Amino acid sequence: MKRFHIKFFSIIIILISTLSSGLCIVLNNDSGSTVDVCNPFLSTTAAESAQTEGFVHTVGRLTVVIDVGHGGIDGGVKGKSGVKESDINLAIALILERHFVEGGFNTVLTRRDENGLYGLATKGFKLRDMNARIDIIKDANPCVVLSIHQNAHSATYRSGSQVFFQKNIASGEKLASYIQKSLNKRLGFENRYLSGDYFILKKGIPASVIVECGFLSNAADEVRLQTEEYQNRICTAIYRGTLDYLLNK
Ligand SMILES: [Zn+2]
Repeated sequence: MKRFHIKFFSIIIILISTLSSGLCIVLNNDSGSTVDVCNPFLSTTAAESAQTEGFVHTVGRLTVVIDVGHGGIDGGVKGKSGVKESDINLAIALILERHFVEGGFNTVLTRRDENGLYGLATKGFKLRDMNARIDIIKDANPCVVLSIHQNAHSATYRSGSQVFFQKNIASGEKLASYIQKSLNKRLGFENRYLSGDYFILKKGIPASVIVECGFLSNAADEVRLQTEEYQNRICTAIYRGTLDYLLNK
């Protein structure tokens, strides 16, 4: 059976089986727009007409954790202008959350304000902060974990987004590959996704990636990372890359 037909039947089966539970389906057409069909009373006829318009994605109501890097006394890396990574991470995470909510996903953010997760700013705060994030992720039981960060490098010419995964975790590597591809396509870079040494990745949580959205050590990145227009382009790319992963995993 052709893959296209398998997808069509999976839409019908999910719809029929979830009419009472209110599960959600996200359908994306070839033009790139997303159609949210969360209505639990959606008929199979609607699904059928969706199919004829070339929809390609089917997703149940899944939870996405957006881990918002740093916060509080830990501002992360800084740009020349003094802008803190922690503030850009939060701005991008809140936009990214909107994309997933509009797509019918449950979302969990590890922080929603400038504060860290460590409690008192005393010795060991960083480990407490990181462990609190892990607890949130485990409680949420997410389909993917997207940890949002900004990069810095002594080679100031380096720019653009780069995605990191934990070596030997196939789901994380696959998610990283789809998001990197989407970021490169939508932002015009040719960066490679890489394995990386990050606390959250080392916890072995499936489908976890670190998205370093740009380099605060690069003058052009520092400026554009602070504009809502560029932040939105990054979020569109992360969102679409995640959908591609969920469709193809
Ligand atoms: Zn960071």
